[in-house]
Amino acid sequence: MASTRYAGGMQIDLATLLVLAAVMSLAATAGFVVVLRDFGADLRPAARDWAAGLALLALSWLLLSLRGTLPDGVVVVGGNVALLASQLLQVGALRRFHGRAPRRRRDALLLAAQAVVSAAFLWGHDSLHARMLLGAALLAVPLVEALHLLLADAERPRSRARGLLVAVYAALLGSLLWRSVAVIAQPGLDAAALFGLPSNLAMHAIAATLPLVATFGLLMLMQHRLVRRLAAQADEDALTGLANRRGFDASAARCWSNGHGLAVLLVDADRFKRINDQHGHAVGDAVLRALGDRLREQARAQDVVARLGGEEFVLLLPGAGVEEAQAAAERLRGAVAARPCDAAGRALALTVSIGVSVRRADDEALEDVLQRADAALYAAKAAGRDRVVVAG
Ligand code: GH3
Ligand code: MG
Ligand code: MG
Repeated sequence: MASTRYAGGMQIDLATLLVLAAVMSLAATAGFVVVLRDFGADLRPAARDWAAGLALLALSWLLLSLRGTLPDGVVVVGGNVALLASQLLQVGALRRFHGRAPRRRRDALLLAAQAVVSAAFLWGHDSLHARMLLGAALLAVPLVEALHLLLADAERPRSRARGLLVAVYAALLGSLLWRSVAVIAQPGLDAAALFGLPSNLAMHAIAATLPLVATFGLLMLMQHRLVRRLAAQADEDALTGLANRRGFDASAARCWSNGHGLAVLLVDADRFKRINDQHGHAVGDAVLRALGDRLREQARAQDVVARLGGEEFVLLLPGAGVEEAQAAAERLRGAVAARPCDAAGRALALTVSIGVSVRRADDEALEDVLQRADAALYAAKAAGRDRVVVAG
């Protein structure tokens, strides 16, 4: 096995590098297997594929490091097929993570092609150039696909973990391209000279170490998604999918702090207890969901719509004055009263009462506006329900 001498005189031996890479990949696989059960059901298939990819990567490094010990055919065919399979499994894991199905038939074709290209070596028809370049082209498929997936299916704003994975795959692809160019540039290249190429050593060093960084990147990408999902759920009402009190408070604080005008519509379902009493709680829930949908339909893109609790909802209209808020409230009240709610197949009539208030110059906090809206809502109930009252 050839080695490359660096300026400092240190010998870097390719076989040693590959054995180390194999040991590290195996250790990472073992770590993954131990923690696999901790992944949620939605992430576990991706984690399992990634771990299998790491195991095959270890196998491929091990085979390639045993050149000279094992028959060359086993090393070349086994090592290259295992290497491509590992990359296909890992891009498959990325596909699963992004909600796409794996491409088993395409992968099988690529692996068959890799086996044929490598087997030319066994049949004595080997051309080092052809094997290197065709092998690189096959290996580039999962690398390019990984880059495409990572860039096309990104969350907004893009996570650092995703950036890390993009950098890893770009480096892997770049080093593969560099070695391919170096191979093309030397028509008389033989195996011994290939091992001495700096681009060959660099590619192996990158390919040996970066998969562990990619593993770290994948785990962080998964963790980032979970954190975002939990954060979104913490602000969401499970029944209607609208913002809950917490989500409303956060959005309202942002609206309030810009100092512009705003209006609040407090919406309460009329005699809702009767619906529960007559039709049961499940039908009551369906009515609340339908009411939530109705509010969502009526709101503009910039409005905040939330369920504050029970059968009480709120709309916050940024920039709205009294007339605009009153008109919006009347439209909403009319829309609810005009069309019965479709609740679990039953059409149930429903009305709402709405208290409206707008921000005043002397208001110190949003709570002041909400309190006036609450008083107006109370007045709407007292005046007979199914009506809008604007705070004076
Ligand atoms: P009003 O016109 O004065 O508002 O009368 P109301 O019956 O709507 O008001 P009240 O506050 O007396 O009753 C509200 C009812 O809403 C009581 C409660 O059981 C029901 N409720 C609160 N949360 C839920 C829920 O999540 N699901 C269902 N189905 N009912 C709920
Ligand atoms: Mg009510
Ligand atoms: Mg109420």
